Amino acid sequence: MKKNTRINVLLLLSLLLIPALFSFDLYFPLGIAAGVPYVALVLIGLITQQSKIVLVMALVGTILTVVGYFLSPEGDVPIVAIINRGLALFAIWSVAIVSFIHLKALDRLEPLARRDQLTNLYNRHYFSSEIVQQINLWRRHQQPLSVLILDVDFFKNINDSYGHITGDYTLQTLASIFLKHVRDVDTVARIGGEEFAILLPSTAINGAMNMAERIRLSVEAYEFKYESFEFSLTVSIGVTEITDESWSVIEFLKKADEMLYKAKKTGRNRCIASHINN
Ligand code: GH3
Ligand code: MG
Ligand code: MG
Repeated sequence: MKKNTRINVLLLLSLLLIPALFSFDLYFPLGIAAGVPYVALVLIGLITQQSKIVLVMALVGTILTVVGYFLSPEGDVPIVAIINRGLALFAIWSVAIVSFIHLKALDRLEPLARRDQLTNLYNRHYFSSEIVQQINLWRRHQQPLSVLILDVDFFKNINDSYGHITGDYTLQTLASIFLKHVRDVDTVARIGGEEFAILLPSTAINGAMNMAERIRLSVEAYEFKYESFEFSLTVSIGVTEITDESWSVIEFLKKADEMLYKAKKTGRNRCIASHINN
């Protein structure tokens, strides 16, 4: 179920639950537990994974608890009723505060979980989920969808000659070069050690090949400088556009990988496309 649909269903559920819980509170007083069932509203807020909804639910629970105090038979025994209602508010707000802190922590961690630590590009996991979404869109709207897989040529030599730290700097610099060439809608990811991928929505193979060639030339022309080391390097790129309804993420990437393999086999520092449209 999509996120927005899930939230709407849960909000609807809480709208049905509010009169049910309130009637329960008024007509079946639970003594010490009076008002505690309103915690269910906060739990629904937690399931929506929206911290604001958690607070709103806690507020609704608070209002119902206070109004319930005046309307329910418990109101006849003031001190017990006040203690009961106080405990209910304590339960509601304890769950709300813990849920709020938990959801805020998730908000902070979620973007980090999508990123590759070294380059800050998207990681392989996020890239795969993005392809799944884009393939679904492609099936519906038939907008072209292409992918590039890029691999650094002889990268091992950089590590061996200048050290691993220089190798890391090189990967970070490459990431910034790639980002200069893409649009906001494109997804750039590091999918392996020195292997990158770029997903290009609304781009047919010819456009993807042009972009690949521009990236290849930029990398080739770039003068890498780290401490006393100066060097240049090249990348090989496999390019493909999805054309077959039956392709999944695996087939799509496999095709681009085959093209990358061809580029390596035929001399490196080149882009090879699965086909070209006239
Ligand atoms: P080819 O042209 O065939 O791709 O040759 P290559 O040397 O680039 O490929 P190979 O697979 O032999 O070597 C890849 C190297 O990338 C080996 C590995 O140590 C290095 N590598 C992988 N991840 C990282 C990383 O995060 N940092 C650094 N510095 N090096 C890495
Ligand atoms: Mg390589
Ligand atoms: Mg490689």
